Amino acid sequence: MRPVAIIGAGPAGLAAAEVVAAAGLPVVVFEQMPSPGRKLLMAGLGGLNITHSEPADSFIARYSEGAPTLRPMIEAFTPDDMRQWCLDLGESTFVGSSGRVFPDSFKASPLLRAWLVKLDRLGVELRNRHRWTGWDEGGALTFDLGGGERLVFQASATVLALGGATWPRLGSTGAWKSALAERGIPLSPFEPSNCGFEVAWSEKILDAHEGRPLKNTGFHFGEFSARAEAVITKRGIEGGAIYALSAPLRDAIAAHGPQTLSLDLVPDLNAEAVHHRLAKAKSKDSLTNRLRKTLGLSEVQRALFFESHGPGFTGDIAAAVKALPIKVQRPFGLERAISSNGGVAWEAVDSRLQLHAMAGVYAAGEMLDWEAPTGGYLLQACLATGRWVGQAIAAKCSVNT
Ligand SMILES: Cc1cc2nc3c(=O)[nH]c(=O)nc-3n(C[C@H](O)[C@H](O)[C@H](O)COP(=O)(O)OP(=O)(O)OC[C@H]3O[C@@H](n4cnc5c(N)ncnc54)[C@H](O)[C@@H]3O)c2cc1C
Repeated sequence: MRPVAIIGAGPAGLAAAEVVAAAGLPVVVFEQMPSPGRKLLMAGLGGLNITHSEPADSFIARYSEGAPTLRPMIEAFTPDDMRQWCLDLGESTFVGSSGRVFPDSFKASPLLRAWLVKLDRLGVELRNRHRWTGWDEGGALTFDLGGGERLVFQASATVLALGGATWPRLGSTGAWKSALAERGIPLSPFEPSNCGFEVAWSEKILDAHEGRPLKNTGFHFGEFSARAEAVITKRGIEGGAIYALSAPLRDAIAAHGPQTLSLDLVPDLNAEAVHHRLAKAKSKDSLTNRLRKTLGLSEVQRALFFESHGPGFTGDIAAAVKALPIKVQRPFGLERAISSNGGVAWEAVDSRLQLHAMAGVYAAGEMLDWEAPTGGYLLQACLATGRWVGQAIAAKCSVNT
């Protein structure tokens, strides 16, 4: 029997390979980079938030428009299944204070190592430095091996798990789009997701606060809110709080131009409590002292206050600290976003994630058009969709044999 070809050795491709090989089918995984799972390893540098412990319905709602399609896949491979899967690979996990789930090692490398050993035992063949370029006239897969060498490969079924379009140096270049576009596969444009945004900071802010975290701050944009850290960078602002708001902020900027984020510099005090504290402050206290001593604002928060309102502010301090405006110009580019939105459109695939236009060709992982915030939702969906197509192929092949 011809092998199943899986293209892309990221979490989605490896998950598909595991399921197909466990069903006893021959599998070859093709990867263009010299080694597999490079983005997974990069995710591991941040602690590898592998999934989230929140209840199933709120978990699935994180995929917003993609939620209805992804629901059966996440239900077939739940966050608990993910934790058990890690455990089976020798990595126990724990739930952090935010509900996020991490491996005890806080790294991806032990998990990836154990996973590759398991795949090897299942008979999966991994071929690195094989860049998939499309199909030949007869429908066989074509690969560029470098140095002018090419490979033509006949597969019984194909899983495309080529990733999104961020951090291209790790292999996820999104260059695969042209091969699919040539075949008339519906694609949505790539957009950065979980990304930072450009802000035109003054030199004063950058000189004193570039690279410094903004803590104990609430971030609001329209009906959306986030409470996490952000960092002031040379080009703007990024970090967990900004990533959480990035999808609505990005879409609003695309539709209407630059937008205003509202920062709550005292998220643990309501307006009344702020007024109360200010009323008790000494009348000779300077504005800086009121912000620092009376309201407990950090140096970075005070700097942002003065950046927005100037040193001679005489307005309503309580209102100003509860809703400090920061104008954001546009999202940072795709290259440094945590993930991308866009890719293979949902209308291009059936409920098994098989391309309508190409029987026997499936798509999984971040290359599909869904997005989710950080929090472990990305890896959960990549593994769930990879396993889903693996099961579809295993079921189809067992019927055909
Ligand atoms: C800095 C950073 C931190 C992150 N942290 C987390 C986290 O903590 N939790 C979380 O849930 N998610 C996190 N993510 C996101 C997560 O890593 C990705 O969503 C996930 O790796 C996507 O999996 P994938 O298999 O779909 O694609 P990828 O991991 O991108 O793998 C796709 C593979 O396909 C290969 N490929 C592409 N084109 C070709 C071709 N033409 N021929 C052959 N091979 C090809 C690529 O080289 C790559 O190896 C993070 C991402 C980044 C960048």
